Amino acid sequence: MSVSGLCQICESRPAQERCENCGTLACDAHYERGAGLCADCSARADPTDHRDVDVHRF
Ligand SMILES: [Zn+2]
Ligand SMILES: [Zn+2]
Repeated sequence: MSVSGLCQICESRPAQERCENCGTLACDAHYERGAGLCADCSARADPTDHRDVDVHRF
Protein backbone atom coordinates (compact mmCIF):
# COMPACT_ATOMS: atom_id res chain seq x y z
CA MET A 1 0.00 0.00 0.00
CA SER A 2 1.27 3.45 -0.79
CA VAL A 3 -0.09 6.75 0.33
CA SER A 4 0.63 10.32 -0.63
CA GLY A 5 1.58 13.10 1.75
CA LEU A 6 4.03 13.63 4.54
CA CYS A 7 4.54 11.46 7.59
CA GLN A 8 2.30 13.00 10.25
CA ILE A 9 4.75 12.10 12.99
CA CYS A 10 7.98 13.69 11.77
CA GLU A 11 6.41 15.81 9.02
CA SER A 12 9.67 15.70 7.12
CA ARG A 13 9.64 12.42 5.20
CA PRO A 14 7.13 11.15 2.65
CA ALA A 15 4.55 8.83 4.18
CA GLN A 16 4.75 5.20 3.12
CA GLU A 17 1.92 3.62 5.07
CA ARG A 18 -1.23 4.40 7.03
CA CYS A 19 -1.64 3.26 10.63
CA GLU A 20 -4.40 0.65 10.88
CA ASN A 21 -5.36 1.92 14.32
CA CYS A 22 -5.44 5.71 14.11
CA GLY A 23 -5.07 6.33 10.37
CA THR A 24 -1.94 8.41 10.79
CA LEU A 25 0.25 8.57 7.70
CA ALA A 26 3.72 7.37 8.60
CA CYS A 27 7.11 7.11 6.91
CA ASP A 28 9.22 3.97 7.06
CA ALA A 29 10.91 5.19 10.23
CA HIS A 30 7.61 5.71 12.00
CA TYR A 31 5.69 2.67 10.86
CA GLU A 32 5.87 -0.83 12.32
CA ARG A 33 5.21 -3.14 9.41
CA GLY A 34 4.76 -6.20 11.58
CA ALA A 35 2.04 -4.56 13.62
CA GLY A 36 0.59 -2.33 10.92
CA LEU A 37 0.76 0.55 13.36
CA CYS A 38 2.40 3.95 13.48
CA ALA A 39 5.19 4.53 15.98
CA ASP A 40 2.79 6.15 18.44
CA CYS A 41 0.29 3.29 18.49
CA SER A 42 3.05 0.70 18.42
CA ALA A 43 4.66 2.23 21.50
CA ARG A 44 1.33 2.18 23.32
CA ALA A 45 0.34 -1.31 22.21
CA ASP A 46 3.65 -3.02 22.91
CA PRO A 47 3.86 -4.03 26.60
CA THR A 48 7.55 -4.85 26.22
CA ASP A 49 8.39 -1.28 25.29
CA HIS A 50 8.98 -0.01 28.79
CA ARG A 51 9.94 3.57 29.32
CA ASP A 52 11.76 4.84 32.36
CA VAL A 53 8.72 6.72 33.62
CA ASP A 54 8.71 5.02 37.04
CA VAL A 55 12.44 5.16 37.64
CA HIS A 56 13.46 7.61 40.30
CA ARG A 57 17.09 8.39 40.86
CA PHE A 58 18.66 10.25 43.71
ZN1 LIG B 1 8.24 9.95 10.04
ZN1 LIG C 1 -1.42 4.99 14.95
